Amino acid sequence: MWKWIVALLAVALLYKLLTADKTRKAGDEGKAKERRIASGELVKDPVCGVYVEAASSISVRDGDRVQYFCGHDCRDRFLKKLEAEGRPIPRADDGENDE
Ligand SMILES: [Zn+2]
Repeated sequence: MWKWIVALLAVALLYKLLTADKTRKAGDEGKAKERRIASGELVKDPVCGVYVEAASSISVRDGDRVQYFCGHDCRDRFLKKLEAEGRPIPRADDGENDE
């Protein structure tokens, strides 16, 4: 009879280990992302709020700051917003001119 109790305990222990491992991994990924944000490697798109890689994203110089965008749509929306606020429109850094 106690064989079953041991088996049940083993299953419960295994289940606990597996679920604990999952939550720990998720925490590590969150920390890794936080580190990349802190180091400036990951930057937030001010339009849609998505984190993008600074090195591979579209950037626009806005005064002494640089804004990064996930795509041309977000960059254009940002520029339109600046225009609506009556602020000077920064020149796109990527040299693209589709207007
Ligand atoms: Zn975006």
